Amino acid sequence: MVIIGGGPAGNSCATTAARLGAQVTLIERDTVGGAAHLWDCIPSKAMIATGNARSFLGRVMRMGLAEVRGEVDLDVLRERLRSIEARLEGSIRTLLESQGVELVDGVGSLKGPHEVVAETAQGVREFEADVVVLATGSRPRIPDWAPVDGERVLTTRHAYPPPALPEHVVVIGSGVTGVEFVHMFNSLGSEVTLIVSRQQVLPQKDPEVAAALEADFLRRGVRLYKGARATGISREDDEVTVSCDDGRVARGSHALLAIGSVPNSEMLGLDAAGVHSDRGYVPVDHNLRSNVPHIYAAGDLSGRLPLSSVAAMQGRKIAEHALGAHVDRSHRHLDYDKAASAIFTEPEIADVGLAEADAFAEGRKIRVTKVPFASAAKALINDDPRGFVKIVSDPATGVVLGGSIVGRHAAELISVLAVAVTNGLTVNDIHESLLVHPTLAEALAEAAE
Ligand SMILES: Cc1cc2nc3c(=O)[nH]c(=O)nc-3n(C[C@H](O)[C@H](O)[C@H](O)COP(=O)(O)OP(=O)(O)OC[C@H]3O[C@@H](n4cnc5c(N)ncnc54)[C@H](O)[C@@H]3O)c2cc1C
Repeated sequence: MVIIGGGPAGNSCATTAARLGAQVTLIERDTVGGAAHLWDCIPSKAMIATGNARSFLGRVMRMGLAEVRGEVDLDVLRERLRSIEARLEGSIRTLLESQGVELVDGVGSLKGPHEVVAETAQGVREFEADVVVLATGSRPRIPDWAPVDGERVLTTRHAYPPPALPEHVVVIGSGVTGVEFVHMFNSLGSEVTLIVSRQQVLPQKDPEVAAALEADFLRRGVRLYKGARATGISREDDEVTVSCDDGRVARGSHALLAIGSVPNSEMLGLDAAGVHSDRGYVPVDHNLRSNVPHIYAAGDLSGRLPLSSVAAMQGRKIAEHALGAHVDRSHRHLDYDKAASAIFTEPEIADVGLAEADAFAEGRKIRVTKVPFASAAKALINDDPRGFVKIVSDPATGVVLGGSIVGRHAAELISVLAVAVTNGLTVNDIHESLLVHPTLAEALAEAAE
C-alpha cells in the first residue's frame, strides 16, 4: 500500500494497514500529523486554551484569589505551539516506524494506476502499489478579491500567532472556523468584527445554539455585520478595509479569511491513473474507493465531512477494506450522520446526530429534553453556569437520536451522547448509569431522565 499524505487520514490508514500485515509506504511532503497538527486543529485549540486561561483570570477574584494580570507574551505562545507540534510529530513518527511503515519525505503523485512517484531531496523514487490511498487534505480558500499578504491580510495559516497581536481583526466567514478565530482573538485581547453573510452565525447549526453564541459575542463587544458578504479587501499602511456587497465597510488592523477550503489535488496526477475528480475533490463510494477500485481517497480530499476525527476513521476503514478485514462481523460502515463535532468557543458548543430543527423540518416525531447547566452543582463550583444540555430522542423507544451541548467542556461531554447515538442506546441507558458527583455530566443524566 502506498499512501500520499500523512495527516490524520494517511496516518491512521498506515498504522491499521501495517497492523493487518500490509507493507506500507507513506509519502509526506511536510510533517507527519498533517495540516491538522501544523495549522488547523492543534495550534488553533492551543491558542484558544491560552485565550480561555486569560478570560478565566478575569473571574478568579470571584473564586477567592487575588487579581492576576494576563498580558499575552507572543514569544512564549509561539514556543508553546512549536513544542506541542514537535511532540505530536515525534510520537506519530515513532508509532509509524515501530509498525514498520516506510516514511518517505517528499511530494507524491500518481504516474499510472499502480505507479506512484515521490520527489525527494535525494531524487525521484518510484513505487509499484497494489493499493493507493490519496490523503492530501486541503488548504484555505483564497478568493481573487483577497490580497493575502500574511502580514495584515491573513488566512488561518498566518495566525499562529501573527508577529504582533492584532489591535482589531475583521474576521470574514462565520462558520466553525470563523467563530473559533473570533473567540481566539477576542479572548487574547483583540477587538473583533465578524462579517456574517447570513442572518445567523453558524448557519448550519441549531438556531438556539447559534443564538447563545451570538449573545455571548455581543456581550464581549464583538461587532457583527449580519447579512453582509465581503467583496473586497484593501490595505493602506496599518489599516485594512473590508468592503461588503451591501455597501458597508469594516475597518481594522488585520483581516482574516475563514471562508472554507480547497482540496490539494492539482499536482496529484489523477488523470494519469484515470481517477475522476469533482471540483478537485475525489468522489468515493461507501468503502472510500474512487472510480478506480484499488485507489482510495480519505480525509478532506474525499469531499465528505471535513473533520480530523472523520479523516482518521476513514483511513482506518480503508485499511480494513483493502486488507479484507471488513468481512469481520464487528465491522461497521462509517455513518457521517453520527459524527460528533465541536466548536471551541467559550462557551463550547458540541453536537451529534439528529438536530431538533432538522427533525421538525422533516416532520419527524421526537422528544426534546433540555436542562440548563445552572442547575448542576459543578457548574456553580466552576463559577460558570452558562449553557445547557439538550437530548433528542425517539418518543416511542427512548433511543437517543442526537443532542447538543453549550457550555464548559461541551466537547468532552458530547462523547456520552456520541456513544449513545452510535450504539442505539436509550435515554434510560444514560439515566441508569452511575455517574460521578459533582460533575457537569450529571446534567446529561438529568436530561435523560
Ligand atoms: C483552522 C482549522 C481548525 C480545525 N480544527 C479542527 C478540530 O478542532 N477538530 C477537527 O476534527 N477538525 C478540525 N479541522 C479540520 C481538520 O483539520 C481536517 O479535516 C483534517 O486536517 C483533514 O485531515 P487530512 O488527513 O485529510 O488532511 P491534512 O491534515 O490536511 O493532511 C494532509 C497531508 O498531506 C500532505 N500532502 C499534500 N499533498 C501532498 C503530496 N502531493 N505529497 C505528499 N504529501 C502531501 C500535506 O502536507 C499534509 O500533511 C480544522 C480545520 C481548520 C482549517
